[in-house]
Formats: sequence, structure tokens, C-alpha cells
Amino acid sequence: NNEEENALSVAASVDTGAPTIFDKIIKKEIPSTVVYEDDKVLAFRDISPQAPVHIVLIPKIRDGLTQLSKADERHKDILGHLMYTTGVIAKQEGIEEGYRVVINNGPTACQSVYHLHLHILGGRQLKWPPG
Ligand code: C5P
Repeated sequence: NNEEENALSVAASVDTGAPTIFDKIIKKEIPSTVVYEDDKVLAFRDISPQAPVHIVLIPKIRDGLTQLSKADERHKDILGHLMYTTGVIAKQEGIEEGYRVVINNGPTACQSVYHLHLHILGGRQLKWPPG
């Protein structure tokens, strides 16, 4: 059933430190719709959007940041830059009145790609609590 299938796919998504699909997106080896880019970060439209606006924002260099819980002192600058950039992108997308920034950390939170990323969601009334 669906619950079992979900449990399997969740269990399969663990942090191995292996390269991820985001490396290929950064290198433009696979296509993505880029909405923002600077020397440190890249933002593109989520391939499976959960809202009218759904953007994935990532650091261009993973540097051990497979997931938020792996952050240490050296990541403070990039974490600040990522958080700041969500606002720039929200404004650019015309959703600055209301949007959500999400980081799924680990299997229990359904993280599927182990390269830190922020989801920026907006363009519709969002519900609370999230699922
Ligand atoms: O937080 P989580 O790890 O589940 O998010 C990964 C996100 O990356 C998903 O929302 C997925 O749709 C997106 N993705 C994408 N393009 C890919 C692979 C994954 O936008 N080629």
C-alpha cells in the first residue's frame, strides 16, 4: 500500500555524502529553469511544484552541507546568504506578501536530495501545520 511504499522511499533517502543530482544542475549538465544565480548560490524552479511558486535555492559548493544538521561554524556565511537571498527571490517572484521557506532535514522530514536546499513556496494560501 501507499504507506508502505512511502516508508520504503523515505528509508532509502539517507545521507551517504554521495554526489547528488544538484551537482548536475549546477554544472548545467541537466536542464533546470534558473530564476536567480550569483557566485555562491543557484535557484531554480522545482520540477515537482507544490505551490504556484516553488523554488529550490542551493549553495553552489556543498562543502559538507548535505543537510542542515551538518552545519558548523564555517557554514555561517553561506547560511546567512541563503536565508537573505530567499527575500530577494520572493520579491522577484512577486510573492513577498506571503511565502514559506522550508528546509527538510533528514529522512523523518522527507529530505530526498542530500545537498542543502531551501524551498521557497508561495502563490497560494498555505496551510499550517504542514504535513
Ligand atoms: O527537501 P527535498 O530533498 O525533498 O527536496 C528536493 C526537491 O528537489 C524536491 O522538491 C524535488 O522535486 C526537487 N528536484 C528538482 N529537480 C530535480 C530533482 C529534484 O527540482 N532534478
